[in-house]
Amino acid sequence: MQVSSIETSSAEVQTAWTITAATCFRCPNCAYVYNPALGCPKEGYPAGTTFENLPRSWQCPDCAVREKPDFVAISA
Ligand SMILES: [Zn+2]
Repeated sequence: MQVSSIETSSAEVQTAWTITAATCFRCPNCAYVYNPALGCPKEGYPAGTTFENLPRSWQCPDCAVREKPDFVAISA
């Protein structure tokens, strides 16, 4: 009997919904919400820039306290 285990990386947080290019992310510190549809033009990221496409060093444009990995995906 063969058992094939298909395991995905446990590094990714499992959520009840699928994170898409349109998923918004919220800063856990100041409640700023990054909306990919709006982007962050003042930071140099035009509308349509997905959260994934932001650099790892990206920080919350409002409080600059939290960095990209700290942001929490929120369902639209
Ligand atoms: Zn913030």
